Amino acid sequence: MKVTVLSGGVGGARFTRGLLALLAPSAEVTVVANTGDDLWLHGVRVCPDLDTLMYTLGGAVHEDQGWGRRDESRRVSDDLAAYGLGWEWFTLGDLDLATHLARTELLRSGLPLSQVTARLCERWAPGVTLLPMSDQEVETHVRLADGRLIHFEEWWVRHRAALPAVGFEQVGLASATAGPGVVEALRDADVVVLPPSNPVVSVGTILAVPGIRDALATTAAPVVGVSPVVGGAPVRGMADACLTAIGVATDAAAVARHYGRRAEGGVLDGWLVDDADAAAADVLRAQGWTVRAAPTLMTDVPTTAAIAAAALGLVDRLP
Ligand code: GDP
Ligand code: CA
Repeated sequence: MKVTVLSGGVGGARFTRGLLALLAPSAEVTVVANTGDDLWLHGVRVCPDLDTLMYTLGGAVHEDQGWGRRDESRRVSDDLAAYGLGWEWFTLGDLDLATHLARTELLRSGLPLSQVTARLCERWAPGVTLLPMSDQEVETHVRLADGRLIHFEEWWVRHRAALPAVGFEQVGLASATAGPGVVEALRDADVVVLPPSNPVVSVGTILAVPGIRDALATTAAPVVGVSPVVGGAPVRGMADACLTAIGVATDAAAVARHYGRRAEGGVLDGWLVDDADAAAADVLRAQGWTVRAAPTLMTDVPTTAAIAAAALGLVDRLP
């Protein structure tokens, strides 16, 4: 069975770990990762969502934090600060920095990000084919209510998404194409999953890359999603601020309608919401959606595997 997942960082990585526990080793899982959060920092290329996926699936993630390396230290960034350099709001761990240095060296040698990622994954053996959404640099910026445009990471990490935003712009998108293998992974899948990733700046950014939304619309595979909104709030992080900025309510049914049903020009065939949102499921069902309520808190790997099973069960794609 071939499963393709469109993923951001922490939510998508944790979900995929559960999916692998459910399916491995019988399934071929491809993860298309958001690279809109990527940035140049101190001359190195940082790819937060690719790294979260690589570390989580490779068994090296800082489990409580959800991102970055376990047993991490910060000697380099502290020393940079002593020069009055760097951004004190962006964590750059020493071990993590080795990943960024390796990536940057490979990029400088002329390899595209997709090949660089494959090379880094040789070490981490994530158990999936990890594909950047695009080989071109596409960086999400936030349009603030006061008119300024700042990098997504500055808004998210430095300002904790507290500055009122009115929208998101993907700088570089116009000249970007889907990365090698991405359209094929959607076309040839037996099922496509939208994990509980941020619908705006993770999955939304991936869908904005030319060719990807079309591939999702036309694939023979069913497409199922898991709500990242539980009981009217994100589980971790500030996805509510992203939804508010684009005029979507922080509500499991509103997120489903934002994605839309494939039968009506959207991207979903099935939608899994949390038990806390059973009422939203009833409303969607009455409107023709294939929807189910189940526990969706990814507290540990077996629980997450059960969430993945509930998602695949929506469209009869259980192994
Ligand atoms: P990021 O790139 O690190 O922000 O990660 P993602 O975009 O992949 O996922 C972020 C989303 O995951 C947030 O909107 C959270 O609400 C959601 N999320 C995190 N943990 C859980 C969980 O246990 N259950 C559900 N349903 N959603 C979760
Ligand atoms: Ca992210």
